[in-house]
Amino acid sequence: MKISSSQPLRGKYYHIKTFGCQMNENDSERMAGLLEESGAERVSSPEKSDIIIVNTCAVREKSEDKLFSYLGRLSHLGKKRDKVVGVTGCVAQLYRNSLFTKNESIDFIAGPDNYRQIVNIILEVRKEKRAATQWSRNWQNIPYESTVHENPVSSYVTIMEGCNNFCTYCVVPFTRGREKYRPVKLVLDEVKFLSSLGYKEIILLGQNVNCYQDPDTGEEFFLLLRRVTEIDGIEWIRFITSHPKNFNKNLANTMNENQKICRQLHLPVQAGSNSVLKRMKRGYTLEEYLEWIRLLKSLMPDICLSTDIIVGFPGESEKDFHKTCDLLEEVGYTNIFSFRYSPRPLSAAGRYQDSVPLETKKKRLIELQELQKKIQLRQNKQKVGRVMKVLCLGHSKKDPKIYSGRNEGYQVVNFKADRDFTGNFVMVRITSCGPYSLRGEAVNNALFSLSRINHTTESSYRKD
Ligand code: SF4
Repeated sequence: MKISSSQPLRGKYYHIKTFGCQMNENDSERMAGLLEESGAERVSSPEKSDIIIVNTCAVREKSEDKLFSYLGRLSHLGKKRDKVVGVTGCVAQLYRNSLFTKNESIDFIAGPDNYRQIVNIILEVRKEKRAATQWSRNWQNIPYESTVHENPVSSYVTIMEGCNNFCTYCVVPFTRGREKYRPVKLVLDEVKFLSSLGYKEIILLGQNVNCYQDPDTGEEFFLLLRRVTEIDGIEWIRFITSHPKNFNKNLANTMNENQKICRQLHLPVQAGSNSVLKRMKRGYTLEEYLEWIRLLKSLMPDICLSTDIIVGFPGESEKDFHKTCDLLEEVGYTNIFSFRYSPRPLSAAGRYQDSVPLETKKKRLIELQELQKKIQLRQNKQKVGRVMKVLCLGHSKKDPKIYSGRNEGYQVVNFKADRDFTGNFVMVRITSCGPYSLRGEAVNNALFSLSRINHTTESSYRKD
């Protein structure tokens, strides 16, 4: 690769393919920023690019398979056009140099702690095949000013990385390393910067956001959250992912007391049976989890809750599985992310006997998802007729005449409007629904500022 001075990638085109969670999406945006600072330009297809980065996820076997099938699809490009292909993210960190032998089109691999050096790694690709490194113990700051945001009004802000929990099914502590926290000042500086650019919603990210502590002062997550609410311009604040084991009243109260913090929480339970939770080493019982749910609902009756569920964990009996189904009915989640268990390398459960047959896992997953679909439809029907605040994110992918956005509960709302509300809050009257989204129409004079909208707005606009 030809090197020029301050912008060594000038004239080069790049493409990043991202698999996995919001952390990966945010990492890709940050890597894109570093590449563009160095002069590279983004293109939408790997065919037209000189640099292809595949940012990977290792949480499930399926996501790992996606990497190899994607690389297989790239094989027609060959190496004639002097392309550089890199694998980043959790699969890179997990398999390190062995990836080179699994697929010969890979030129470099870089784990999450290497992203700051991504430009140098690309430039040095011909000299050596860079291997994913060991974890740094301290926060590795990547300048946020250059981040290439996918969304013009809603942005992720990473506040911590890694995990110390070692749930027995999970590979993350081996791919993201131990917890490390971004200093409060850097978090606040980034949020202020995003506000100055016109961002209206931020989503604080981390594997365990409610374990957050400022590395210097020990300031806890709920205090950071309060400080973020003080930044002008940001109207909606969300955070993901919270661990039930580390949930506390301070956080629940902070959510309740502040209008900017969305009444929405993702609280992964994973299973509804105590014996399964114990084997997963989750660190809480079902009763303790339900205590938090009751507290949250008593403080914020309109809160939208979502969760993660694994079915078919080793030793999960039919009775255990039905306890998980009962839990879905009891909580009434707005959304769930559900998966079949698959053993992951290095994880403790990888050494357990994978005792639930594949067919049983498949059957349970379908049953669980069908149940959740009914719950969602039932709940969504109750929202028909209400008027709610929606952050409009643009046109619907399926129909360009329809706009699409998210409500405070992070539900998809598709709506008709006689003008373009993209990037703005809009009041939408819900006219119909399906299990996975709400449909409606913008009400007249629908643009509002926060001063006129608070958490009581939805009910005060109810038709009845
Ligand atoms: S809390 Fe458990 S599931 Fe979540 S990242 Fe850590 S080890 Fe994995």
